[in-house]
Amino acid sequence: MALRRFLNPPPRYAPWEKPRYRDFEKKVLIVGGGFAGYTAAKTLCELVRDRDDVGVLVLSRENYFTFWPIVPEVVSNDVDAHNVAQPLRRALITAGASFRRARVQRVVPERNVVVAEGDIEFPYDQLVIAVGGQPNFFGIPGVEEHALSMRGLEDAEQIRNRVIERFEEVSLIRGEIPESKLTFVVIGGGATGVEVASQIHTLVHEHLASDYPNIDPNRVRIYLVEALPEILPELDPALRKAARNRLYRQRIEVLTNTLAEEVTADCVRLKGGGEISSENVIWTAGNRPNAVIQRLGLPYDEKNGIRVDEYLRVEGHRDIWAIGDCAAIPDVRQEGKIVPPNAQAAVQEGKTVARNVLAVLDGREDELERFEYKPLGQLVELGSDFAVNEVMGVRFSGFLAALFWRLAYLVRLTSPQSKARVAADWIVSFFLRPAVTQVRGARNNADDRT
Ligand SMILES: Cc1cc2nc3c(=O)[nH]c(=O)nc-3n(C[C@H](O)[C@H](O)[C@H](O)COP(=O)(O)OP(=O)(O)OC[C@H]3O[C@@H](n4cnc5c(N)ncnc54)[C@H](O)[C@@H]3O)c2cc1C
Repeated sequence: MALRRFLNPPPRYAPWEKPRYRDFEKKVLIVGGGFAGYTAAKTLCELVRDRDDVGVLVLSRENYFTFWPIVPEVVSNDVDAHNVAQPLRRALITAGASFRRARVQRVVPERNVVVAEGDIEFPYDQLVIAVGGQPNFFGIPGVEEHALSMRGLEDAEQIRNRVIERFEEVSLIRGEIPESKLTFVVIGGGATGVEVASQIHTLVHEHLASDYPNIDPNRVRIYLVEALPEILPELDPALRKAARNRLYRQRIEVLTNTLAEEVTADCVRLKGGGEISSENVIWTAGNRPNAVIQRLGLPYDEKNGIRVDEYLRVEGHRDIWAIGDCAAIPDVRQEGKIVPPNAQAAVQEGKTVARNVLAVLDGREDELERFEYKPLGQLVELGSDFAVNEVMGVRFSGFLAALFWRLAYLVRLTSPQSKARVAADWIVSFFLRPAVTQVRGARNNADDRT
């Protein structure tokens, strides 16, 4: 019982004593419950734990927080998608904040309100925008219609379902099997593209191969297409080489200096004339700030996001702040550069913005903190038994690096349930090959009804 109580701490306010958000003297509204928004809310709640004048409300499109670094593992089914979706409500209510699932549409700074879908208004004294990013297709013809992207848990499940679908289809084909059916093309050689290509390899060779004895898994071709001369350009050259060798051993064909010019239903056309015959294209080559920022009425630049100063405050707005992938944050370490859009930056920004918002609420503007991004390193997993890591200048790769990758992210998962379930998924998939089923929904059974 004591352990159960320890693992399930009571919320800061009992339901009958919690004031309504609107009734707090100082209201902080946070839009977005991802790495940046969630961290800002949690930090602020910790800072005002002993005060009753500051109310925090988080509005987010989903009622869960997607732990992105583990999402590629959903493709191979090493981790169940539900375990990567960490419940937002419980964590925030326990911390003392309020939560509403709402899709924000615009800000009205003149009246200090945010308007969500359904014309519902939410007031604020201080507002933090953290709505994240979305894929950037750079206007390349056919990508949006024919490629799968990797910007959500549903996307990862869709990629897994696509692989299974092709295996089911091919196992029914009597004659020649079109090459396009069993060819998978991942466009984008950054960390996400490399991880997705490796997870497709794991799914095919480790999980599906023995369930489909009439399909030779070596007929499956996986391509990784990158426009730059190198994959993983942000990594140290030795680690890059280790990753290339691993991809080579997995028979993933890496095409660098290769630009995808068009994607059709059954091929990828490459600049310079070549083409890859494939009905399965996955786009991971670019991200941009969430398009909703264009409607918020705040200063932004389309490529990098809402314009903020070095304190994370939106240009020209004393009470509005922006953080995470949706914000163009000046990198004080390098003149003219902006902070890269990644999870560790988003978490650091969330902590700084919480302290700055409180400083303004308390009239301590002279204590505002400049945001300085401190990169801690990079971890890239290529299958469950291999990773390439750079942590505080130390570089290592291989099986131990894969163990480190898993431990590092297990510690960072915020929900205790997610931690326990993800750890269980990893332990089970180490001993038992994950059973991979394709849940297709009722629409596929429509013909069976009388
Ligand atoms: C597949 C994948 C793997 C990644 N792996 C890594 C990694 O290993 N390491 C790393 O450092 N980074 C990684 N990243 C990048 C990292 O996840 C992002 O940089 C980070 O999530 C940014 O945090 P954020 O809070 O700005 O956005 P998010 O975490 O995406 O959160 C945005 C939030 O805003 C909400 N929202 C969006 N629109 C609205 C709206 N209109 N109204 C209300 N709410 C809204 C969303 O529901 C969400 O809660 C990965 C990204 C992807 C896609």
